[in-house]
Formats: sequence, C-alpha cells, structure tokens
Amino acid sequence: MRSIDIVLESAASGTRISSDEAVYLFEQADLLALADTADRIRQRLHPDNVISYIIDRNINYTNVCREFCTFCAFYRVKGDSEAYVLPDHVIYRKIEETLALGGTGILMQGGVHPDLKIDYYERLLSGIKERFPIHCHCFSPPEILNIAKVSKMTVQEVFKRLKVAGLDSMPGGGGEILDDEIRTAISPLKCKTDDWLMVHREAHQLNMRTTATMMIGVGENIHHRIRHLQRLRDLQDETGGFTAFIPWTFQPENTELAQRNLPEVTAAEYLRLLALSRIYLDNFQNVQVSWLTVGLKVGQVGLRFGVNDMGSIMIEENVISAAGARHRANDSELRRIIEDAGFHPRQRTTLYERYVN
Ligand code: SF4
Repeated sequence: MRSIDIVLESAASGTRISSDEAVYLFEQADLLALADTADRIRQRLHPDNVISYIIDRNINYTNVCREFCTFCAFYRVKGDSEAYVLPDHVIYRKIEETLALGGTGILMQGGVHPDLKIDYYERLLSGIKERFPIHCHCFSPPEILNIAKVSKMTVQEVFKRLKVAGLDSMPGGGGEILDDEIRTAISPLKCKTDDWLMVHREAHQLNMRTTATMMIGVGENIHHRIRHLQRLRDLQDETGGFTAFIPWTFQPENTELAQRNLPEVTAAEYLRLLALSRIYLDNFQNVQVSWLTVGLKVGQVGLRFGVNDMGSIMIEENVISAAGARHRANDSELRRIIEDAGFHPRQRTTLYERYVN
C-alpha cells in the first residue's frame, strides 16, 4: 500500500485511488490533509473559485407510501387521516411562487404510492410544462420502479413516456447506502442496489441526467460507504450521466430507526466523508454539501473540503424536516455564507450547465 502522503499527492494531480486506499485514507489520514487534497481537486475542476447554488422547490406530491423505510418520518399509509395527494392547483401555485422567487426548477418526489399509474405522472408533468417554463427534476428510482410495476411497463418505457410529458432529469433519492446488507436492515421493502443503479443506467441511456446521493449514519461502516462510492464511480465510468454527488446525514427524529440508538454522525465524520468523496469520485464534476442536514455552519466549513456546490435554498422541504432537520436559508443568506468563506456565489440551473446570475 502506498503511503498516505503519496496517495493524497497523486490524487490531487488526478490519479485515481483504489477502494482499499479510500478505506485507508478514511481511517488513517489527517482530517486537514484530506481537506487540502480535496480542495486542490476542487480548484483543478473549478478554477473560477465559484460556489454554486440553486433556487428551487421540493414539492412532495404525495406522502402515501408502501415501503415503510425505518429512517423515514414522512410517509403515511394509504387511508391514514394525514395521507395526501396534492391537487394540481396546489402544485401550480407552488411553482408560481418558486418562479416569483427567481427559481428555475422543481424537485418533485413523493412516496411509493400503490395506485398512481403512468397516466397520473404524464398528466402531472404535461400540465406543469403547458403552464410554466421550469425544469422538472422529478421521481427518484423507487418511484420510477413503482410506476413501471403498477403500470405493467418496463423502466425504459416509463422514462420514454415521462420524457415526452416533460421530465427533464431524475433525482437520486432512495440511494441511502448502496449495499444490500444495509438496505435489508433499514428498508427491506425498498429497491436493492442493482435496481437503483439500473434505473439510473436506463435514464442515462436516454440522455437523461441524474444525481447520485448517499445517506450516512444508518449503521453502515466505512467498507459499506466505500462500496457505495465504488458503485457510483463504476456507473459514471460506464455512462457519464451523473451531474453531481450529494452526501447527507440521517435525521433521526420521529423515525423507527432512532430506536436503534445509532451514534449520530459528527461534523468531523461528515467532513471526512465529504473530502474523501471528492478525492475518490474522480469522474464526478460536482460535489454538493448538504447544509440542510448538517446545518449552515458545518456546510460553510464543508466548502473547504472539496465541495463546489451548496445545493438549494429549498423554498420548501418536507421529508428531511419531518425527521428533525429545520435549517433554513434565503438567497442573500446563502450568498453571504459563500462569500464569507472566500468564494464567489453564483446561482445555477438544475443541470449545472449555466449560471443564472
Ligand atoms: S423514504 Fe421514501 S420510499 Fe421510504 S418510506 Fe419514506 S417516502 Fe417511502
């Protein structure tokens, strides 16, 4: 095994590190040495010293779900008094508000609803696109798999029809930890690793971009985490379809998983993972810090751990906030935080392809 200094130096200059080296770095490397290497990689990939962010809105069109993930405080079973499917006019009003605030996109996700078929989603997307010039970043892999199942279609057919109706890109929700040992322990009914990856592959093959995510703090160890990163890096080698990687921390409030009393992810642990992600995922252009889960102050520090994007001001968010994350920021606050860390803030579009201001 190469020494830590040699691994870090070669990674900074663009040489890929192995999974064994990633485990070694996570366990042995000095936190600030990891940060320095990740920051040098970020500077090489983004020499403009810009930290980007997006103004968008997370619209949760339904909270009805049949997956019963132990880490989720958002879902309700069908028939529950708090179960809902948002009426179209409510979704339209939310989009109007988003556009009025300078937003460019919506991130629309919901539960895995047992009854909603492809025609519901087609009508929803086409109704939005007829009315609003907005990017639709919608429906995570578990939802796509569910649409295919209840509509008796293939995933590829689902994507083709949703694309025609107005789907622009897909969020990588439902990734959690891409290792079936962990997935079985925390969400036994949810799609397994290969299915999650297959849905992304199908999207990429239709030239639809997607994001990759990770949720840490659910009982996984460093080997699970690196296997997760390896699966993402392998698929990115194959398709090049991921726009960004976004790791966040499990929020325990009101969840079944909280009863297992798992140790909370510390700021140092999150920052270590953030830097390691930037170092390991050499084929990802963008790494985003999740200030929504770790807070604005840790999020700001994360900007020196290889991150080039601060995510969304998130006009509305219901899933993570149901589990206890209540951090908030508006446009000017986020810009001030970025500037104060020594960067230029720029609002971007969903696909990271251009700046809005
Ligand atoms: S995380 Fe998603 S799939 Fe799992 S229970 Fe919650 S809404 Fe359903």
